[in-house]
Amino acid sequence: MTPAYFDHNATTPLSSAARQAWLETADRYWHNPSSLYPPAGAARRRLEDAREQLAELLGGGDSEEVVFTSGATEANNGALASIASLAPDAHCAVAAFEHPSVLAPARRHFAGRLVENGTTREGEIDLPQLETALAGGGVGSVAVMAANNETGALQPVGQISELCRRHGALYHCDAAQLIGRGPAPRDVDVLVGSAHKFGGPKGVGFVRFGERARHLTLQAGGPQENRRRGGTEDLPGIVAMVAALAEGVDWASQAGARDRFEQNIAGRIPGTEVVAAGAPRLPNTSMLIVPAGRNLKWLTRLGRNGVAVSTGSACSSGAESGSHVLAAMGYGRTRWRRRRRFCRAG
Ligand code: PMP
Repeated sequence: MTPAYFDHNATTPLSSAARQAWLETADRYWHNPSSLYPPAGAARRRLEDAREQLAELLGGGDSEEVVFTSGATEANNGALASIASLAPDAHCAVAAFEHPSVLAPARRHFAGRLVENGTTREGEIDLPQLETALAGGGVGSVAVMAANNETGALQPVGQISELCRRHGALYHCDAAQLIGRGPAPRDVDVLVGSAHKFGGPKGVGFVRFGERARHLTLQAGGPQENRRRGGTEDLPGIVAMVAALAEGVDWASQAGARDRFEQNIAGRIPGTEVVAAGAPRLPNTSMLIVPAGRNLKWLTRLGRNGVAVSTGSACSSGAESGSHVLAAMGYGRTRWRRRRRFCRAG
C-alpha cells in the first residue's frame, strides 16, 4: 500500500476481516444461491444471514428491505430510474452537490422535471429552498446525500426526512460516505451504501428500501433479491462487506486528529482555508484551499514522496478539473484550483 494514504473517501484498503470472510465464502459457498440442491441451499442461507446481519448493523428493521448491488453507482441509478418511471409526472429535487452517480441519472430520468437545490457556503443543503420547492407541490422525491465525498459536510438528514414526510415525497439518501463512519440514517426511504468505502471489497453495495419504497426495483432479470435486482449475487463480496462493517472503526477519535491536522497546517501555511469548516463534517475529511501566492508544488511533491492525497473526487480528479461541489458553494476557479483533500482512515 502507499506509505501514507490520505484518500479514504476514494476507496479504502480491504480490511483483514473482510479478506478472511471473502476467502472462506468463496471456498465454501461457491454454488449459485438460487439452485436447488443442498450446497446451493447452504449458500442461500449464508446470503440471508448476511442480509439479516446488515439490516441489524444499519440499525435494525426488516432484512427484506435490503437489496444487494454492485455498489452505490448501480444502486443510485436503479433507484432513481425506478422512482422516475413509477411516478412519471412527479418532479425530483436534487442537491447540486450530489455525487455524479446521482446527478447524472437524475438529469436523465427526470429531464424537464428536475429541481436542482442550492447549497450554503458551508456545503450544506439550502433547507428553506428545499422546503419552498416541496411546499409548491408536484415534487415526488428528493435526493440529498448523507455526507459529501469532497468536503465531508454532513447533511441534516433528519430534517430533510421530516420535510419529505410532511409533503409526501420519497427521500433517496446516498450514504456511501457515511456508512461505516457514523450511524446509518434510519428515517430515509432509499438508503444507499458501498462496501469499498469502509474496508469491504470494490464492486459490492446495497440499498435499503424502507416501508414507503418497497415497490421500487433496480434491474430486470431473474427472481433474485425478491425480484428487485436480477443477477446472481456476489456472495463472497456481500459476506466480506458485512464483515467489514461489523468490524467498525473508532471514528470518534478521528475528529480530534482531523482538527489537530487542520490547526497544524493553518499554523504552517497561514491563510489556508478549511472548506465547510463551519458545518458538521465527516471525522476523517479535510478539504483545504491553500492561499493564493503560495507555491502549490509542495502538494505535487507529496505525491512523489508517496503521500496519496487528491483534489477532491476520484470521479473528477486532477487539479484542473472543476468541482461542481465547490462551484455550488460559490468558489470560483482560482480558489478550487488550489484545493486538496485529505481523508484519513480509522
Ligand atoms: N456516492 C458517493 C457519495 C461516493 O463517494 C461514491 C464513490 N466515489 C459513489 C456514490 C459511487 O460508489 P461506487 O464506487 O460503489 O459505485
